[in-house]
Amino acid sequence: MLAGMGKRFLGALVLVFVASSAWAQGQAIEYKLSFPSPEHRWMQVEVRFPQVPAGTLQVRMARTSPGRYALHEFAKNVFDVSIVNGRGQPLAAARPDLHQWDVAGHDGTVVVTYRIFGDRTDGTYLGIDSMHAHINIPAALMFARGWFERPARVTFVQPPGKSWKVATQLFPTPDPLVFTAPNLHYLMDSPTDFSAFTLRTFTVDDGQKRTGPPPTFRIALTHDGTEAEADAYAKDVERIVREAINIFGELPAFETNTYTFLSVYLPWASGDGMEHRNSTSLTGAGALRNPQQRQGMLGTVSHEFFHAWNMERIRSRGIEPFDFEQADVSDDLWLGEGFTSYFDGLILERAGLMTMDGLLGDLAGMINAVTLSPGRRIRSAIDMSRLAPFVDAAASIDRTAWQNTFISYYTYGSAIGFGLDLELRARTNSKVSGDDFMRGLWAAFGKPGQKEPGKVATPYTIDGLKETLAKVSGDRGFANDFFAKYVEGRDLVDYGGLLARAGVVVRRRAAGRAFAGQVQLQPGGSALRVGSQVPFDSPLYKAGVAQDDQLTSLDGTELASTSAYEEALGRIKAGATVPIRFVRRGGEVVNTTLTLEEDPRIELVPIEKTGGTLTDDQRRFRESWLSSPKR
Ligand SMILES: [Zn+2]
Repeated sequence: MLAGMGKRFLGALVLVFVASSAWAQGQAIEYKLSFPSPEHRWMQVEVRFPQVPAGTLQVRMARTSPGRYALHEFAKNVFDVSIVNGRGQPLAAARPDLHQWDVAGHDGTVVVTYRIFGDRTDGTYLGIDSMHAHINIPAALMFARGWFERPARVTFVQPPGKSWKVATQLFPTPDPLVFTAPNLHYLMDSPTDFSAFTLRTFTVDDGQKRTGPPPTFRIALTHDGTEAEADAYAKDVERIVREAINIFGELPAFETNTYTFLSVYLPWASGDGMEHRNSTSLTGAGALRNPQQRQGMLGTVSHEFFHAWNMERIRSRGIEPFDFEQADVSDDLWLGEGFTSYFDGLILERAGLMTMDGLLGDLAGMINAVTLSPGRRIRSAIDMSRLAPFVDAAASIDRTAWQNTFISYYTYGSAIGFGLDLELRARTNSKVSGDDFMRGLWAAFGKPGQKEPGKVATPYTIDGLKETLAKVSGDRGFANDFFAKYVEGRDLVDYGGLLARAGVVVRRRAAGRAFAGQVQLQPGGSALRVGSQVPFDSPLYKAGVAQDDQLTSLDGTELASTSAYEEALGRIKAGATVPIRFVRRGGEVVNTTLTLEEDPRIELVPIEKTGGTLTDDQRRFRESWLSSPKR
């Protein structure tokens, strides 16, 4: 057929072929998702693998999901599996493990059908009922090993009597129920909500030169509230989007030029936010009508949208490409999750959606956590990140020592991000900030490295992060020192000294008050049961108190209630040694002494609320930090 064509024409054809094969190789895998009785919480899946090379096709369910680090057993919800060839003749499958079906003897086509149960609405699992199907793809769709460069086509079949719509980052086709993915990496990253959602859209022009129109933001909202609540939510989501752009200077180039918020707020939804390349799954049991719950929802919106840059495009080499069979381990979740946690609050405050006092309260809680947790004496932020497969939505039925040996990389990383932002500002009279560091990472790793949808071409390593900080700060020594002390090491920045520059006072929140250690105490009968691990080296720990012990008296006060315990602590002087009696879980009664410390927990207070005066320098520092940069 090519014979006889002019050379020039042939050249053009080859170019077209190269351009499309860079995205996709081979015929599309066809998925058909049907919901014959969604009220029973299962769906029917048909997967057609075409052009199967001779030999065994290894069909699998994933064990991981992008943004989730613990292993999951998604295959457990699969049942009624049948496998046929292209002529509909049954094929036998070997099962080398619980997650895999090995199909041999096919005719170049393999069609797998199965049912899958799912009753958890969140960003990780599959949630189906008579209102919607909230589908995290790795939890629902089988894939074939080695087929990740193949395109996919997904068809949704309406449940009987419904006229649901599809919200997804998948590529649209003229048929509103048919979508495509250029490769399986992209398909796996594309959560989809199939329901009668409320739709709100807006566009944001970030001022960058682009060939087409500015991107469209879609909010697919499923909730039990009003249209007015949906309108107000959409308005606040738009404020968050605009404020995040102020940090990075521009929007990422969203594939299909859209970004979709899959927002599901229903009483039975599980609290979760999960980032994806051009969308996010936001779920929870709260309601928009409840101001406190709404504030939490907006915090998650801010967090997940920040991930469109920091995680989805500025991405650690440890999780790129994502492995769907093994736990994905990264050294860098202190940056991916932690810095995102720091900036999500800052964005809300700058956008006018959180007060300065609210932000300072959150920052104080974070400082208290990293300062007091014994985990920091054991592990660095990098070490904490590597533990993600053990702690991120990981279920363990045995007790662990995490309360003493682990600090969440969200919290720890947030403390590092906060420290870096203030350090940079303090060193440069606010000319350079944490915003600039994020912008530097975007320029180095996010923006240039995007060639194929669903993939990051230039993931970073820790050396690249150091290099970027050296460049942004103009001081290589500072960059190396910062990483050595606070990221690879276990030091904490001098929050008090740095916050003073912003006219914020760090002070003990209960100065002089006696403190025995942070534990949960559960009243029951005439004693208080210790309901959590006792922090290493705390006064209670030194007195020999452990989890499940019953505290019966402190300094002569019978401990029949937590208020009796608090009153006793209020009476005792910090530093004093007093008698304590408790019963170990084996029944042994212990009479000993407890030496109390001063409550070390701090609060952050604007200097003007402490009777002091805010200087002009402090006001300028604070405004630069907490006000929208409006570049
Ligand atoms: Zn996150």
